Amino acid sequence: MSMSSRSNALDAIAARSIEAPAQNLDGNIDYYGIDVFNTDSINEYLPRPTAKKLLATVQNGEPLDAEIAADVAHGLKKWAIDHGATHYTHWFLPLTGTTAEKHDSFLEPCGDKAIMTFSGKNLIVGEPDASSFPSGGLRSTFEARGYTAWDPTSPAFIKRHANGATLCIPTVFCSYTGVPLDKKTPLLRSNQALSKATKRLMKAFGQPDARVSITLGAEQEYFLIDKMFYLHRPDLVQTGRTLFGAPPPKHQQLEDHYFGAIKQRILKFMGEVEKELWRLGIPAKTRHNEVAPAQFEIAPMFESVNLAVDHNMLVMEVLRQVADRNGLVCLLHEKPFAGINGSGKHNNWSFCYGDTNLLQPGNDPEQNAIFLTVLSAIIMAMDKYSELLFASVAGAGNSHRLGANEAPPAIISIYLGDQLNGIIEQLQNGDKMSSRKVAPLRIGVDTLPPLPCDATDRNRTSPFAFTGNKFEFRAPGSSQSCAGPMMVLNTIVADALNDIAAKVEKFKAKTFNEELQKLVVKHKRIIFNGDNYSDEWLKEATSRGLPMAKNAVEGLCALTSKASVELFEKHGVFTPQELVSRCDVFVHEFDRKIKIEGGISLEMVRNIIIPVVTKQFKKALSAMQSARDLKVKAGVAALEKRVTMLGEGLDDMDKKSAVLEKALIKGDSQAIIKAMEGLRPVVDSMEGIVNDNDWPLPKYREMLFIY
Ligand code: ADP
Ligand code: MG
Repeated sequence: MSMSSRSNALDAIAARSIEAPAQNLDGNIDYYGIDVFNTDSINEYLPRPTAKKLLATVQNGEPLDAEIAADVAHGLKKWAIDHGATHYTHWFLPLTGTTAEKHDSFLEPCGDKAIMTFSGKNLIVGEPDASSFPSGGLRSTFEARGYTAWDPTSPAFIKRHANGATLCIPTVFCSYTGVPLDKKTPLLRSNQALSKATKRLMKAFGQPDARVSITLGAEQEYFLIDKMFYLHRPDLVQTGRTLFGAPPPKHQQLEDHYFGAIKQRILKFMGEVEKELWRLGIPAKTRHNEVAPAQFEIAPMFESVNLAVDHNMLVMEVLRQVADRNGLVCLLHEKPFAGINGSGKHNNWSFCYGDTNLLQPGNDPEQNAIFLTVLSAIIMAMDKYSELLFASVAGAGNSHRLGANEAPPAIISIYLGDQLNGIIEQLQNGDKMSSRKVAPLRIGVDTLPPLPCDATDRNRTSPFAFTGNKFEFRAPGSSQSCAGPMMVLNTIVADALNDIAAKVEKFKAKTFNEELQKLVVKHKRIIFNGDNYSDEWLKEATSRGLPMAKNAVEGLCALTSKASVELFEKHGVFTPQELVSRCDVFVHEFDRKIKIEGGISLEMVRNIIIPVVTKQFKKALSAMQSARDLKVKAGVAALEKRVTMLGEGLDDMDKKSAVLEKALIKGDSQAIIKAMEGLRPVVDSMEGIVNDNDWPLPKYREMLFIY
């Protein structure tokens, strides 16, 4: 890396031509879902009886008739080839938290020619080598075989590249012995658990049988920076976050970025992203500037949770790829820039029985026994198992958000808002209930119509907030798969619903109210409607005895607690062995990420920063020396000061990098984190002293503002 690389990057960005807005565009999006094997294509490409059976599974969750595989494969292949595909792959979600694919072509040599084949077996199972995927000791390398199995509830889709396309078939992924090695299997199991418990409760309430559907709307935050800058930051390239960098004088304090007018270059990027997502049948809906400079959000409409989880993985992929071809880099890390807001992924979750959203309070929530019961179940679930919910989002990247000086904190609590809180208080006190009636909102400008007012205000600081007809889980990190948090949420709520259903089955209506009341009293400590970032909350939560993990590893360990093992086993989501192995995988992942960060930190300080500071030191020293030689008095004191500052910086960096090196040799993550935290301030202070032209790393004020 040459000394002038940073300014080269700036020159290149300055020379970039900016495209004018497109003219005469047709705004129709008739290509929506064109790259998905959706209902239309199923009906077009499959024989009628086959289509009917497949749609019964996709739309009504009926068990798949294995007999139809060959027919489906045939039609799917034809559809894929018509859409330019030459290859197919099973597409799955290994425990790395990313997606995996291994492509095979449809090609089969036939004499001198080749034909395109794809069998029912190719569709239903795959046998990728599983030995290089994390398994947490569930599979030894000699049993390398893994299986992928078709998930017909998430439709096959086409991924395009400059020279063709690949048919992707969403699958689960398990070991030779059937142990899940992915994130989808437990999610599907947890969907079943929640569905079963909901049906039981509804039956106890005398409701006719209906289908349970669980929905997720995932809001995705991300940063965009110019690729030129990214390429000059080894820390970003290797870890996804800046390990050094002084906060610039202006960052987000003017609050001028949030919802601000979106720059042309970014809009072009967003438009391209949306087009790709729409082709994939991903209902991208909302786009805006986020709080931090260079930070943005995309939110699709909610969908059935399994599909929404897969779609979010594709959203992240499309964001990265489209950024790349626009000369940008999309940073999905939870905290790319210290001192600047990090990125989350708000998981909006609710579930329906038939057409009724069970989290919809209705006009008379206090009279809505089912709603109140479900709400009480969620309060109970959150209080009993908040540690598991925390574990589902614990990780190296997210630990910079959670519990750091920024929402949401490491303490899980629920925000209900005024109306529901009032109802819960009345329920708790056994009062005759009346809810706060929601008056229309008047703005005081006569020409404006009165606005309907939401029953809940917003509380942006709560990790788990009721937002009118759904809960918004805000703790998940921007890079994390939604599968883990959704799986835990489904399971803990299933457990609570099951407990309550048992009570409903046993008690008469009157005593049931008392039961609900007891339950709310017992678990209401988890409800907190105030400012989650305040110090008072920390004290208050401590006195309420709410769990607070000290760090991500401690948080993850909750997965293997006795209560957790019993819970997941009871609902058929994990065997004890599967849980232990998962915990092992996640703790190792944390360790490895920290070691990589430590390694890059050390390398950057020794290979980049110290040499640059040494040069500056030499320059200042020789200037001082020549001044003295020439008997010039003015400036000598200042130069001496500069020499001292740089020299002390060198000593300090030398000392602190030695501490980091030791921690790395020992391999102790917590010690590595501490050593990195010790080293960073001196490096950042050198950034403020070294001649700007000589500083080799793009600065925060450039990365965050020049794009
Ligand atoms: P916010 O104001 O919280 O930023 P957004 O519009 O960005 O809201 O995102 C809200 C998300 O919640 C969207 O994905 C939306 O589709 C989703 N959502 C709305 N209703 C439900 C529901 N019943 N279940 C799950 N998600 C929902
Ligand atoms: Mg949003």
